[in-house]
Amino acid sequence: MSASEHGGIAKRGDPAAASAGGSPPALARRHIRLSSHPGGTTKPVAIEWGAPDPKARGPVLGSVRDGSRRNVIGAHSGSYSLYRALAVAAGQLDPVHVPDLTDTAPAEPIGPYPQWAGSERIVSLDPFGHMVSEAFADEIAGGLDIRPTIAVTKAHLTVPEIKGAIEAGRLSPDGEVLTSNGDARVTKMAIEPVWYLPGIAARFGIGEAELRRALFEESGGMYTELVTRPDVKVFLPPVGGITVYGFGDVGAPAHAGGAVTCRVHDECNGSDVFGSDICTCRPYLTHGIEECIAAAQGGGTGFVVYNRKEGRALGEVTKFLVYNARKRQPGGDRAETYFERTECVAGVQDMRFQELMPDVLHWLGIRRIDRFVSMSDMKRDAIEAQGIAIGRQVPIPPDLVPDDAQVEITAKRAAGYYSDVGSPSSGELQETAGRSLTD
Ligand SMILES: [Zn+2]
Repeated sequence: MSASEHGGIAKRGDPAAASAGGSPPALARRHIRLSSHPGGTTKPVAIEWGAPDPKARGPVLGSVRDGSRRNVIGAHSGSYSLYRALAVAAGQLDPVHVPDLTDTAPAEPIGPYPQWAGSERIVSLDPFGHMVSEAFADEIAGGLDIRPTIAVTKAHLTVPEIKGAIEAGRLSPDGEVLTSNGDARVTKMAIEPVWYLPGIAARFGIGEAELRRALFEESGGMYTELVTRPDVKVFLPPVGGITVYGFGDVGAPAHAGGAVTCRVHDECNGSDVFGSDICTCRPYLTHGIEECIAAAQGGGTGFVVYNRKEGRALGEVTKFLVYNARKRQPGGDRAETYFERTECVAGVQDMRFQELMPDVLHWLGIRRIDRFVSMSDMKRDAIEAQGIAIGRQVPIPPDLVPDDAQVEITAKRAAGYYSDVGSPSSGELQETAGRSLTD
């Protein structure tokens, strides 16, 4: 009998489900696994964060089946760990399943680079996360369920705006970076967050205990070990990760010192995927891809870093509430109140915390970004604060800004974002308005 024939989710310990010959009711046979206090004679596998050699650093062991050997708080796969829990609860996933990692190794080598060493430059991802099959082959053979937190593969991108750039004569297929039919060849890298809590706390200038307490309390007490296990320093937070799209030789910035073009883009599903015109996100993203292709064709490397930080990390519900508030306020949607309306709803203007963003640039071995495709002063300052130089900031070309997004771009210029045309006058700030909700 399948779970659906059984009338929905197979209950834990349900004898009908247990006797049906499906997956065993593994959860029913065990005590609840508590990890809130150290127990037994086995200790967590040691991690020396920042050690330059993966063997000395030690593996990030997040599998829940490894019990007291685990050396992290939380579980692998970020927010998807909760879908995994649902799959186990529904009897569809064997909780002791171990991934078969045959043929999953990176399609392109990344590092190791000198920036990976030390506990300050990289605190929000595991720099060895893509190399675990190789680096910890002995431990895996010995029975530890060590999982990659980074995967590196290859792809072609078919983007209408890039075909448009070819038609307009701004790009030309070269058969390498850009195929004859206008597809871009990329190396794409998926990165899950791995937080070294002392390093995260240091990055924000707060105490580790303070950070742990806020994470514990503000998640509704989701991870008890944050406050009961100060010996466990690594947290796998249930937040979105990063995807990097690399154009050209992705190892060149570290090895050959080649010119680097980079766009650090924070997710905006409405614009990026669906073409919503209230902001400049997709136009800026595709402009960044175009810049990266041009860089790679010129012998350099391009990187688009895509962070899952929807709606300034406030989430899409908050974002849509803000859109309504902006458009319904007396006087309509205006540049001069753009940031204020966000703060009224969310309590802050922005929760993306660019302080952690440069970690991925260190992971890629980048020391200098020659063309930084962004107007954001917060991103620029965060990158420079982490010791990566920025040559030129490249604003979005004015003709790519949708009409309804003039409110956003004018407000950002007024707030100090980089622009070729400088800050708007007070008259321009007052006069720049967007559509109403009903237009
Ligand atoms: Zn947007």
